[in-house]
Amino acid sequence: MHEMSVALSVADQVEQAARAHGATGVERVRLDIGELAGVVPDSLHFCFELVCAGTLLDGAELLVRAVPGRASCTPCGREWATGMPPDLTCPGCRSAATALPAGRELTITEVRWARPPAPAPAPIPHREEN
Ligand SMILES: [Zn+2]
Repeated sequence: MHEMSVALSVADQVEQAARAHGATGVERVRLDIGELAGVVPDSLHFCFELVCAGTLLDGAELLVRAVPGRASCTPCGREWATGMPPDLTCPGCRSAATALPAGRELTITEVRWARPPAPAPAPIPHREEN
């Protein structure tokens, strides 16, 4: 189950960053996911909720932006949108695509930390002098 491993890896990276920032919670995670990455957004949302339950990320909102796939052809220099299912045949010379410049990304583009609760008033230091 591909989405589960993606969800785990995203949750893990965000959790590490949260600890590094001293964040107490995560409000939102934004991802760029390429059309060709083979990730089904609905499944990913489901898995993300599962892996986040009971962690620092509990309740975090996951926003996914689909990045359209693009292919390019070296012989004729053409670049085209692959669409879904992907069309990897060059519309110019009918060669097979030689590169996929976009569409396979899985990138965390934004993490918004939850606002920490208002700090409790600091206790006034009390020193006993004898
Ligand atoms: Zn071509």
